[in-house]
Amino acid sequence: MKHAIVVGSGAGGATAAKELQGKFAVTVLEAGTEFRPLSLGLPGIERMKKAGLLFDERELHLIFPTVQIRKTPEMVLANGIGLGGTTTICTGNAVRMDRDLKALGINLDAEFEEIYQEIPVTTVHQKRWHKHTRRLFEICHEMNLDPQPMPKLGNYENCISCGRCVLGCTHGAKWDSRQFLQVAVERGAEVMTNCKVERVVIENGRATGVEARRGWMRQFYPADLVILAAGGFATPVILQDSGIRCEPRLFVDPVLCVATAWAGAQQCQEIEMPFVVQREHFILSPYFDYVSFPFNKTWKYPAKDTLGIMIKLADSTTGSISNKEVKKALTAEDKHRLGQGVELCKEIFRRFGAKEDSIFLGTINAGHPGGTLPLTEQEAESFHHDRLPRNLYVADATLIPQSLGNPPILTIIAIAKRISKVCAQEMHAEG
Ligand SMILES: Cc1cc2nc3c(=O)[nH]c(=O)nc-3n(C[C@H](O)[C@H](O)[C@H](O)COP(=O)(O)OP(=O)(O)OC[C@H]3O[C@@H](n4cnc5c(N)ncnc54)[C@H](O)[C@@H]3O)c2cc1C
Ligand code: SF4
Repeated sequence: MKHAIVVGSGAGGATAAKELQGKFAVTVLEAGTEFRPLSLGLPGIERMKKAGLLFDERELHLIFPTVQIRKTPEMVLANGIGLGGTTTICTGNAVRMDRDLKALGINLDAEFEEIYQEIPVTTVHQKRWHKHTRRLFEICHEMNLDPQPMPKLGNYENCISCGRCVLGCTHGAKWDSRQFLQVAVERGAEVMTNCKVERVVIENGRATGVEARRGWMRQFYPADLVILAAGGFATPVILQDSGIRCEPRLFVDPVLCVATAWAGAQQCQEIEMPFVVQREHFILSPYFDYVSFPFNKTWKYPAKDTLGIMIKLADSTTGSISNKEVKKALTAEDKHRLGQGVELCKEIFRRFGAKEDSIFLGTINAGHPGGTLPLTEQEAESFHHDRLPRNLYVADATLIPQSLGNPPILTIIAIAKRISKVCAQEMHAEG
C-alpha cells in the first residue's frame, strides 16, 4: 500500500488521516504531544495576577503548554500545539462558512452532510444559560440584531457550564479532532508526536517525503503522498522553507472584547460564546476573555464580576508569515469596523444597565489564521495549486481565500474531506 504522511493533527490533519487511512498507510507527524487541559483554576490565575507574575501573554505557554503565542505590535496570536491542534482549545462553535468557496464554484454540500452524520451539532446548551446571558440575548433581540444560539460541536448534555472551554473540556462535552484521530488509529494509522516537520523534500518535481526534527534528531520520512495540515501559521512556513511561494494574504480574525464590571456576572462559569450576532464584517458573542483577564492591566475586576462581549472581525488579507516573523497589522478599514463593533457592544451594555465608565476594552487577540495559499477558481476542481508537486496537498485554513470572521473548523473539515477524496483519486489514477 502507498504511504501518506499527514503533517498536523488538528481540524484538517485529523480529518485527512481518518479519510485516507485504508486507501493509504497513513503516518501523522505531530509537532506537539498529548493534550492536557489546564488544571490551574481561576483563583490560582487571580493570585498570580495579584502577585504581579503575569505580565506577558507569552507566559501562557509556560502555564498551558498547548497554547502557542506569537505577538505583533497590535495583537496576540494564539494557536494550539499538540494532538488535536487548536480544536482542543476551541469553544466548540460549529458554523458552516463556505460562501466564498461557493462563489469560486466549489460545492461542499456532500462533505458537510457527512460531517453532520459524524459529529453531533447542537444548541441544547441554551437550557442552561445563566440569567445574564439570557438578558444579553433579549437585549440583542430588542435591538433587532437577530441573536442566534451558537451551534456547538459535541455532546452538550454533558456540559456543566464550567466556562473552561478554551482551557480544555474535561467533561466529554466538546468535540475535538482527537476523536477523528482515534478513528484513524483504529483503522491502522500511525501517529508520531514530538515530530516537527521543517520542510518537504522535493526531487524532480515530486515530494519524496519530509524532513522533521524529533528532539535533537533531524530525520527524513519518505512518502508517496504528503498532506500539510499544520495550521494557518505553520503550513506556510513549511511551504516556504521547501521553496514554495505563499501569498502575503494572511488573515487571523482578530478578536476584541468589550467588557463591563458587573457584580456577580459569573460569566467565567458560563459556556463560552453561547449565542452569536452576525453582522456584515464581524460577529458579537458573550465571552470571558482568558487573554485579557490575566494580562491586561485595565481588566482589574474579579473574574466573577466581569462580563464581556467578543467582537470577532473578518479582517483584511494583509499579513504574512515566515520562519522569522509574522507581520499582521489592522488596516484603517479593520479599525473602523472594530470601532463599529465597540459602539454596538457599548449600547448593549448600556441597555443592560452598565455605567459608561465601567466599560473597558481587551487586548486584541486572534486564533483563526489562514489565507496564504488561497484557493481560486482555477483550483476549484483539483484543490491543488500548480506551484505544488503533484503529490503534495495542503488541507487546512491556508487554502481559505478570505477571512471568515467566524469559526472555521467545520469548513476546514469539509475542505480536508474533499482533498482526501481528490488526492486518493489522483494517486489511484497515477497507479
Ligand atoms: C481560543 C480559540 C478558540 C477557537 N474556537 C473555535 C470554535 O469554537 N470553532 C471554530 O470553528 N474554530 C475555533 N477556533 C479556530 C480553530 O480551532 C482553528 O481555526 C482550527 O483548529 C484550525 O485547524 P487547522 O487544521 O488549520 O490547524 P490546527 O487545528 O491548529 O492544527 C495544526 C496542527 O499542526 C501541528 N503542527 C504545527 N506545526 C507543525 C509542524 N511543523 N510539524 C508537525 N506538526 C505541526 C499542530 O501541533 C497542530 O496539531 C478557535 C481558535 C482559538 C485559538
Ligand atoms: S462549559 Fe465546561 S463542560 Fe461545557 S463544553 Fe465548555 S469546558 Fe466543557
